[in-house]
Amino acid sequence: MSESGGQGPVLRLEAVRKTFGRTVVLRDVDLEVAPHTVTALIGASGSGKSTLLRCANLLEEIDDGAIFLDGEEITDPRADPDAVRRRIGVVFQAYNLFPHMTVLQNITLAPRRVHGVGRAEAEERARELLERLGLSGKAGEYPDRLSGGQQQRVAIVRALACRPRLLLLDEITAALDPELVGEVLDVVRGLKDEGMTMILATHEMGFARDVADQVCFLDGGVVLERGTPAEVFGEPRQERTRRFLRRLV
Ligand code: ADP
Ligand code: MG
Repeated sequence: MSESGGQGPVLRLEAVRKTFGRTVVLRDVDLEVAPHTVTALIGASGSGKSTLLRCANLLEEIDDGAIFLDGEEITDPRADPDAVRRRIGVVFQAYNLFPHMTVLQNITLAPRRVHGVGRAEAEERARELLERLGLSGKAGEYPDRLSGGQQQRVAIVRALACRPRLLLLDEITAALDPELVGEVLDVVRGLKDEGMTMILATHEMGFARDVADQVCFLDGGVVLERGTPAEVFGEPRQERTRRFLRRLV
């Protein structure tokens, strides 16, 4: 039974295990993401953050365990990966906009092709979102005419245009010049205020502390510590968490 829109977790990982060859990248990862909450994944490079997000979006096949979206097991072999991906928006570190398409074309492509939305409606929705994210003048521009921060905001609009149930954000500010990070993080903050459910992998600890409801510290593919920002940042229980956080300050 689908629990779409219900009170159960939007996403649930149960003892997820992922290996690449002989390397175990995720070990027994459990995770619950409640509706309208933000989960921050923190941890050193190589700790498994991106792999976790890729498994959640079925870009990687898991070796063991199960993943549920709105109560429905999406790792069930009978589940339709395309249908699952239509319900999950993803934004990566590199904006991945199509360079030969305008901003508007980039945003309306998936709604039109994948979701069967008509052109006029798709464009109207795109313009609304662009305006909300402070990009209303950019609909006709090509990506290379935009700053990195603007491109990343367009990538967020593109993900939102499909009205996802869940948004996965993988280090979306990591490739940006420092002065452009703020405008992208402000967009994420705005989405949180609107109730969007999000999981973000980030190195921006101040931001994670500020915006997250739940913080998970990954270490070698294990969720070593989890809790509220106050718990994980303020009084980490594990020595490895303390060491990781100390290195960052
Ligand atoms: P993070 O995002 O936290 O930096 P990743 O999820 O990218 O970590 O990587 C976790 C581990 O998985 C690393 O050891 C990385 O080398 C390995 N890994 C990731 N993707 C692949 C792949 N496609 N093939 C082999 N190993 C991979
Ligand atoms: Mg990564």
